Amino acid sequence: MSQTRWRIVFAEPFAEQAVSQMREIGDIRELTRCDESYLMEAVADCDALLVRTASRVTRRVLEAAPRLRVIGRGGVGLDNVDLDAARERGVTVVYTPGTATDAVADLTFGLMLSLVWDLRGCDAGVRDERFAAVRAAVRPRELSALTLGIVGLGRIGQAVARRAAHGFGMRVLYNDLVDPGPLDFPATPVDKDRVFAESDIVSLHVPLTEATRGLVREAALARFKPGAFLINTSRGAVVDGHALDRALRSGRLGGAGLDVFDPEPLPADHPLLSAPNTVFTPHVGARTALAQARINGVVEDVIRVLRGLAALYPA
Ligand code: NAD
Repeated sequence: MSQTRWRIVFAEPFAEQAVSQMREIGDIRELTRCDESYLMEAVADCDALLVRTASRVTRRVLEAAPRLRVIGRGGVGLDNVDLDAARERGVTVVYTPGTATDAVADLTFGLMLSLVWDLRGCDAGVRDERFAAVRAAVRPRELSALTLGIVGLGRIGQAVARRAAHGFGMRVLYNDLVDPGPLDFPATPVDKDRVFAESDIVSLHVPLTEATRGLVREAALARFKPGAFLINTSRGAVVDGHALDRALRSGRLGGAGLDVFDPEPLPADHPLLSAPNTVFTPHVGARTALAQARINGVVEDVIRVLRGLAALYPA
């Protein structure tokens, strides 16, 4: 009896081991581009599509894929897949929740500590023979004396809050749409305005949705405590980059640590790139060996769905 060989498209790079696993059950095509028109052509006869962050699986892409059964999103945010269109077409979407939680939480503290200690300025001072002058400046803040405000107390938000409360002795405020249930760290639920107004550092951990797109723009920034820091490791479009740039240049905000941008990468002439008191990382929140190994594991769920089994991590 001949066994079905699935047609599988990897729209973005995955680990060789993940590709090999899929090669055992199907014919593989690995794309070098993932813009919409290219994707539409590539999915025409495919059964499974594997994407990461860059591909946008729009309704048009889904309509161009009559055989598609399953989309494997290696990673956490699902904002790049049109989930309604997938549902309507009976396409299962699987992803890898929780795989980068500790990595993103660690990076969040990397950004916070970098701002609080001005590590960029300190590093430059040591290299530029301004050792004594930079040392002489007294840092105005220590984390243990600060209030951290978290928007989105899900997996990553909780990992950040736990580190903040237990590791750094910070006071933690949070806002979420749902009650997170019993927490193993002290934290106070408040509305978003209070998070903005009472926090020395605001850290964003929401998914990108219609409700969170542009959540931090001019009006929200005007409510921030003067001199507060903003950390964004969620999605770039949750923050209005131009409004943030103005708040930093006016001194209204004390600094910003960003791992995500809108668009990614920012064009070279984007004002934010030269705004004061910033530290940027190129969307590396999930780029640790451990997180990547887990993210590549999405292929196992894709194989389950192709074999007619229930998905372990459906969207
Ligand atoms: P999660 O689903 O566990 O948590 C998200 C939380 O946000 C939920 O508790 C949800 O109720 C809450 N939320 C949703 N809309 C909200 C709103 N309007 N106001 C307040 N709260 C709201 O997800 P997670 O695993 O914690 O990941 C969060 C986000 O982090 C992902 O969606 C992704 O965009 C981003 N992320 C970034 C990286 C990176 O490399 N920087 C890596 C992984 C995840």
